[in-house]
Amino acid sequence: MAKTRRKSKRSWMQEDKYWVSFNHGVYSISFNIAETFERMSKSKRWKHALMAGVDAHRLEMGHDPKFRVTMIHERNGYAKHCDRIMTRILNNTMDCRGVRRHATGPVYSVHSGNVGYGGRSYGASVSTHPNANYNNSIKSLAHKMVTMLHELAHYVHLCTVYRNVVKGRKRCHDRMFNAIMCEMARYFWGYDRTPMTAGYSIGRGYAPTDHLTSWLTDRLTKELDGEEYPRIMDWVDYE
Ligand SMILES: [Zn+2]
Repeated sequence: MAKTRRKSKRSWMQEDKYWVSFNHGVYSISFNIAETFERMSKSKRWKHALMAGVDAHRLEMGHDPKFRVTMIHERNGYAKHCDRIMTRILNNTMDCRGVRRHATGPVYSVHSGNVGYGGRSYGASVSTHPNANYNNSIKSLAHKMVTMLHELAHYVHLCTVYRNVVKGRKRCHDRMFNAIMCEMARYFWGYDRTPMTAGYSIGRGYAPTDHLTSWLTDRLTKELDGEEYPRIMDWVDYE
């Protein structure tokens, strides 16, 4: 009985809209957004990435009284917080089978718009459509995977701190956000940059995302041309 329930709980993940496919030469490459979300959110590394983010935040901001987690002095406090928020988004998503309007609380979902979103009470989302700029190329696939990670990093970041505001402008893509994203990219795919070495500066908060997308595109392309990046190819199906 437990087995049947498990199957029905997961069957929604196989709907067509969750499958993203791209062609590269003779190869057909695909991945499943719902399964990828599940894998990303189940990672035990988020707490380490969050701590890296906290350190990056302190380097950039110094002491900030609005910084919620500074109330928690033990490092293990961040770990508990992180486990709690990742369990919340994962369980909520599974409970509503990915349908945001049936959910209470943050979930991961897909939509047909052009961009992704991420936030504390929203959770995260990604478009099911390939990015038209990348012409259904392998960069589309890299862009989709990076966007999924990018939006989840927003969720973790904004569950932890108040949004950074500098000179009246909201700064969602601050150094803390980027440190979380870069760390998770390192755990997932072996990405070898920090926000600073990926081009981050104030006003260039999107630079690491762009760098990571190019980096992942490059690795995927080289893999299909015969080099080996098993950690990356483990995230996609290809034939
Ligand atoms: Zn963003």
